[in-house]
Amino acid sequence: MNLVPEAAALDRELRGWRRHLHAHPETAFEEKATAAFVAERLSEIGLEVHTGLAGTGVVGVLRGGGSAAAIGLRADLDALHIHERTGAPHASKHEGRMHACGHDGHTTMLLGAAKALAQRRRVDGTVYFVFQPAEENEGGGRVMVEQGLFDRFPMRAVYGMHNWPANPVGTFALRPGPLMGAFDIFEIVATGKGAHAAMAYQGRDPMMFASLAIGALQTIVSRDLHPLDAGVVSVTQVHAGDTWNVIPDQVVLRGTVRSFKRDVQDTIERRMRGIVDGIAATFGMTATLRYERRYPATVNSDAETAHALAAATAVVGRDRVDTDPMPSMGSEDFAFMLQAKPGCYVWLGTGEGPDTPSLHNPRYDFNDDALAIGASYWVTLAEQQLPAAR
Ligand SMILES: [Zn+2]
Ligand SMILES: [Zn+2]
Repeated sequence: MNLVPEAAALDRELRGWRRHLHAHPETAFEEKATAAFVAERLSEIGLEVHTGLAGTGVVGVLRGGGSAAAIGLRADLDALHIHERTGAPHASKHEGRMHACGHDGHTTMLLGAAKALAQRRRVDGTVYFVFQPAEENEGGGRVMVEQGLFDRFPMRAVYGMHNWPANPVGTFALRPGPLMGAFDIFEIVATGKGAHAAMAYQGRDPMMFASLAIGALQTIVSRDLHPLDAGVVSVTQVHAGDTWNVIPDQVVLRGTVRSFKRDVQDTIERRMRGIVDGIAATFGMTATLRYERRYPATVNSDAETAHALAAATAVVGRDRVDTDPMPSMGSEDFAFMLQAKPGCYVWLGTGEGPDTPSLHNPRYDFNDDALAIGASYWVTLAEQQLPAAR
């Protein structure tokens, strides 16, 4: 392990910051105290601070030397609607909200990197520290891009990092191409005709639609996609009926679709429409499909992945960087930034063993032993990408 000394020296302070943030979680676009905490730390460090982008987003600016080159390093601020059950002394003080995805750790590591980089004064160029709101569900990263993140803060590349409890602490995993999936949602409403359940022939039973549609939708992945292309179609909600002896008018199915490639996403949506229309026609009823593309796939560019690999290797050693991890069908709104700029998103191992709770688990807690490692990665990446003449 080759920690940046200034980052390693911050370890105690970073643990304190992380636990403070953990105890005070705020959810999408309401990260006011969190954003204020970040802005205060950045000001103390002596950086230029911009607030209010996408509501609660914060951007810190570190300028060194005379180079016009610039890169962005991004963290996320938000927590989840989960009731915490860690029992930790720094457990959430906000009922029903919890930092169960480790964004408290991400924010802390980026603040630590800002502080260490400011102390070291070894970059020639500009580093933008981007703290985005609402990574979970609400696409705060997309809003930041729409509100001019890259116009106001021009940068040639942007980098992201997420803690990964499935991988051991002190490791990194990254790859060029897709690392996280596209996330879509759908709602199908089939409308038949209600009837007395004993006289079903007098109605058009939407339950028949549901029973066939759920199975038929599973044939998209198995029969319409190339076997080496990944896709998931999951029906996660079925709503219909109130009592024993009444055939309802309507059934509502909802769920999610995951994919890595645009043409796979297009195929899934097109086949869903075909199946929904076809089954509705079969049973003489109407059905609608609302299909909404939420987050695109998180796709790393080749050159920036090589840059991230170089930085990770410098910190933890080449044998502790996995360059061929299995991509996750989970999703990440950093994808919107990667649609606008080249960049690389990496997984920072934070696991302590097989029993480490997973992300979004009420017993999950960010592993503070990874703080100095993640901060060292950011510092190394910035200094390698914006090298000052020695
Ligand atoms: Zn999450
Ligand atoms: Zn997350």
